[in-house]
Amino acid sequence: MRTHYCGDINETLIDQTVTFCGWVHRRRDHGGVIFLDVRDREGLVQVVFDPDTVDAFNTADSVRSEFVVQITGRVRGRPEGTTNDNMKTGKIEVLGKEINVVNKAATPPFPLDGYTDVGEDIRLKYRYMDMRRPEMQEKLRFRSKVTSHVRRYLEDNGFLDIETPILTRATPEGARDYLVPSRTHEGSFFALPQSPQLFKQLLMVSGFDRYYQIAKCFRDEDLRADRQPEFTQIDIEASFIDEEQIMALTQGMISEIFEKELNVQLGEFPRMPYSEAMQKYGSDKPDLRIPLQLVDVAEFLQDIEFKVFAGPAKDPKGRVAALRVPGGAEISRKQIDDYTKFVGIYGAKGLAWIKVNEIEKGVEGLQSPIIKFIGDDNTMSIMNKLGAENGDIIFFGADKEVIVNEALGALRCKLGEDLNLYTCDWAPLWVVDFPMFEETKDGGITAIHHPFTAPSCSPEELKAEPTTALSRAYDMVLNGCELGGGSIRIHEQSMQETVFDVLGISEEEQQEKFGFLLDALKYGAPVHGGLAFGLDRLVMLLTGANSIREVIAFPKTQSAACVMTEAPGQVGNAQLRELHIKLREKPKAES
Ligand code: ASP
Repeated sequence: MRTHYCGDINETLIDQTVTFCGWVHRRRDHGGVIFLDVRDREGLVQVVFDPDTVDAFNTADSVRSEFVVQITGRVRGRPEGTTNDNMKTGKIEVLGKEINVVNKAATPPFPLDGYTDVGEDIRLKYRYMDMRRPEMQEKLRFRSKVTSHVRRYLEDNGFLDIETPILTRATPEGARDYLVPSRTHEGSFFALPQSPQLFKQLLMVSGFDRYYQIAKCFRDEDLRADRQPEFTQIDIEASFIDEEQIMALTQGMISEIFEKELNVQLGEFPRMPYSEAMQKYGSDKPDLRIPLQLVDVAEFLQDIEFKVFAGPAKDPKGRVAALRVPGGAEISRKQIDDYTKFVGIYGAKGLAWIKVNEIEKGVEGLQSPIIKFIGDDNTMSIMNKLGAENGDIIFFGADKEVIVNEALGALRCKLGEDLNLYTCDWAPLWVVDFPMFEETKDGGITAIHHPFTAPSCSPEELKAEPTTALSRAYDMVLNGCELGGGSIRIHEQSMQETVFDVLGISEEEQQEKFGFLLDALKYGAPVHGGLAFGLDRLVMLLTGANSIREVIAFPKTQSAACVMTEAPGQVGNAQLRELHIKLREKPKAES
């Protein structure tokens, strides 16, 4: 149907006849001459119809935005003064000879010829139209280039692409499962994989040695801006390898993509133990573009009367930390109130602050509602420890350690953005030495990565002191986002059982849920480890998009639904009966 893509027609084709197909992007009537901009995935081309070619002129006159057309015409240089250097095809135009309307189009739900601020719901409802916009085309093409780099890199390094099942048993990664009822096994359910974790480990037991997959994963979590119920991982696993090798290999892959696609050299990635990340940045994925750090100040506040500070300062699970913000003295009361609300989201009950106006005058040179509670000497000792300077504002967090870390950690990132404190464009790092477990709200313990992660200690040590044990896990972090995470895995059955024991999983449950893994580990499992990257997040960072929904063709909304297909949808009784499912009637209050 065509000889060229619209966007590929250029000055090398002058005087030639070309045929192309596409969508009418814009139609203009210039005093008896019709101009059509016709668009396909490669770009736009300008076509001119003059009244001499009567039929073509009349058809061109009748087409509207987004009609699908096939056009034949002669390429010619644009008249002087009308060329457009910003367009690939800006030096030429096509003199239209024939135009065939392949299909009409109803008026689009939103204009596509130029940037318009369209609500996301409308964009998602008409996603197929939204994706005609050049910005969306660019992002998805970019994504395709990234996966192609990934495949090439991993294949060059001996990795095999192997698919793993979607209908499977639960693979714990800390989220809820999506369940699929079985028709053939009454009352039983498949779970969609939260990751291919166990299958990739079993592939190592099978001797495949190096595996990768661009894998769909499903996690039923409370959604945040950068989460989707189904998302894509670059999933990697290798045998007879240690953390140094796997980190070097995957760092090489990410660095190569940045170099080839953005011409950015990421350099050597620094390493930071988890404990340091939490202490200095309140986060296990610190954004190192922002120079602010949290500093502990509990030592000065244990003996004061003021319980808000003294309580957490004395509590072994509490924390009192300060965040010094150079130049922050300019922040208005109104902004401080907004920041107070902001830290409230993370459970902080307030946000104390001190502005440093003239430090040489001692407490007299400070401005704050809290100095009278802390006392002059303590205040000055804190100023000293922080190295406070004129023009600073100092924010304080005092609460349970988790709350202080989350609240001040998030505030640090928000201030970085609001005050534009970034010192560089890209700040990658590895976070290492994660603890094996963390405490849950109900006092139990749970695996920080997943329960297949190898601890850095012996089974005996792990049993004796589970909460202080470290794991052989590593996360790659970039600009405050976790790009990927992985670990060296447990390859011995006894160690795997120990971890399950420590997690309080009974022997029966171990057999029921993970019997196949425990079995496999006794038939000669190699030392192995791996990592998985979030592809959506990687592409989001590379393209500067502000949400992963912008780099996914058909994403779900914040409430885990698809507004276009209206999934999830209801199903009829017959289908439910086949699946042995009877819906519970909604209690009155819910309906
Ligand atoms: N399966 C892990 C995850 O999805 C990644 C890994 O350990 O390789 O987070």
